[in-house]
Amino acid sequence: MPETKRGPYRWRTWLRMHLPLFLIDIGIADKGEDCEAAGGYHEWYSIDNKLSGCYHCKIKHPGKMWGK
Ligand SMILES: [Zn+2]
Repeated sequence: MPETKRGPYRWRTWLRMHLPLFLIDIGIADKGEDCEAAGGYHEWYSIDNKLSGCYHCKIKHPGKMWGK
């Protein structure tokens, strides 16, 4: 999938994985607002087995969205 189709927040996810923690603490690699609103799509993980969160933005979704 081309980089542009994956949403604009992936580079921030990459930053969060590679930057020293102090840079993340000051918010330089904060999550985006909404992948879908920006033309991308979400990638879900389980927050507490009832709520799904997106790796790349601040959106949370009730139910098990991960693993689909
Ligand atoms: Zn998202």
